[in-house]
Amino acid sequence: MAKEKITNNFISSQKKYFNTGDGFQLQPMDIGHKHYIGLISPDTAFWTLVKKNCLGQVLTDSSFLYKYRKKEKSFLNEMNLLRFGLKPSAVYFNPTDRCNMNCSYCYIPEELRKHGKHMSTKRVLKALEILKDYFQATLPKDQIPQIVFHGAEPMLNKEAVFSAIERFDKYFRFGIQTNGTLLDSEAIKFLTSRKISIGLSIDGGSGKVADKLRKTWNGKGVFQKVTKV
Ligand code: SF4
Repeated sequence: MAKEKITNNFISSQKKYFNTGDGFQLQPMDIGHKHYIGLISPDTAFWTLVKKNCLGQVLTDSSFLYKYRKKEKSFLNEMNLLRFGLKPSAVYFNPTDRCNMNCSYCYIPEELRKHGKHMSTKRVLKALEILKDYFQATLPKDQIPQIVFHGAEPMLNKEAVFSAIERFDKYFRFGIQTNGTLLDSEAIKFLTSRKISIGLSIDGGSGKVADKLRKTWNGKGVFQKVTKV
């Protein structure tokens, strides 16, 4: 008898070639749920949930398997684009190690926030010059890259940050993520007049919550001060 041909893409509703190792494979995965079980494709880690009592029916349903493969393919294309097809267009830039706050969950070590370094203005400008050249060589002409000054607290190195914004205004879209405690009226005027995006870090909608987490080195909350900005 002639041997039946099995292609890599063959999906059988008759369970002939299901999980043969030569084609489409799915592995059931117990997720600890009372009614649902996972079905995962080991090659791509693409998965779906199916009702336990429908597993047999699902595995022999060619229309389900067809849809599964279609979605899996689109997921693979998206992952491929994210991993290998995108070019960087934004940079989070930390101009200082230091912070004037001591939030309970901060991931930056206390020592660094207290005694770390500021980047000099000269160094910040030089770094942005390098980034400008990089983006000019990699991005389309009509795409403006973004620089977000981040922290620790970037406003502690205001001189360098503001100099950079003034010098490179036409090459980047700038933003600043700040705890808000150092935003005086002069700084706000400088930033808003140049349409710089300002992100204020606040946890929760009331001082009762926010001040439990976000505190100065003396343990005082800053919610009221920051929300006045
Ligand atoms: S304001 Fe930001 S950098 Fe400063 S202590 Fe809080 S979380 Fe950390």
